[in-house]
Amino acid sequence: AGAAAEARFISSAKGKGLFATKNIRKGETVFVERPVVSSQFLWNALYNYRACDHCLRALETAEENAQRLLGKSSLVLPHPEQCSIRKDLHQQCPRCQVMYCSAECRQAALEQYHQVLCLGPSRDDPTHPLNKLQEAWRNMHYPPETSSIMLMARMVATVKQAKDKEWWIKAFSQFCNKTANEEEEIVHKLLGDKFKGQLELLRLLFTEALYDEHLSRWFTPEGFRSLFALVGTNGQGIGTSSLSQWVHACDALDLPMLQREELDAFIDQLYKDIEK
Ligand SMILES: [Zn+2]
Ligand SMILES: [Zn+2]
Repeated sequence: AGAAAEARFISSAKGKGLFATKNIRKGETVFVERPVVSSQFLWNALYNYRACDHCLRALETAEENAQRLLGKSSLVLPHPEQCSIRKDLHQQCPRCQVMYCSAECRQAALEQYHQVLCLGPSRDDPTHPLNKLQEAWRNMHYPPETSSIMLMARMVATVKQAKDKEWWIKAFSQFCNKTANEEEEIVHKLLGDKFKGQLELLRLLFTEALYDEHLSRWFTPEGFRSLFALVGTNGQGIGTSSLSQWVHACDALDLPMLQREELDAFIDQLYKDIEK
């Protein structure tokens, strides 16, 4: 079976949209897409939700996920073999200790943008320009987060590292073309009423951390606003929870009726406890 949906160009203002190409059954995977750049929401990272720094796949097991959500480290999940987290495959950047789900992700990040963004021993240095940028972003944008300044940083870093810079600049510019007014509206929505001063502060910190002469346009007030609006409209939050994957796998288990009822009751109770 082919993909149930495809991305099609709608208009220069709306950019691309997702269209169904056939009738879609409930539960069917509609669309799988590798994001051009991805970044974990900064608040999540600060709250110790551990995810692969490149693909955002969860790094904590379903059991650890449930323990953290419940604040109960003694919780034991049945059927641990249904958890897809493979800790033995996890890898670390040797310079900054950022975590990846696999050697492939570590390598892909390094080749695409991480050489520029690796903080090395400055990881916890609050005066490092990249840390100042993230701190400013967290202070203006409380949860629930809808986007991340680090997406923009990864875009710049990608172009900085690329041999064919023009190709990437073109790839990013085809996402969206909006008028100045439309862009302002998006920025307003993301940053609130004080957005003008905040956008300018972010631009200065962004420039300090990442300026590149090939991309000088992105660091001007107009260019930065466009980039910000682009990330604000195209950025998506992705939920990757190892617990929900475990539940999904448990649902698919072929079990004797009694065991099935027991497992379902356990999962129901677990979700009730988490929601409390
Ligand atoms: Zn990964
Ligand atoms: Zn690193």
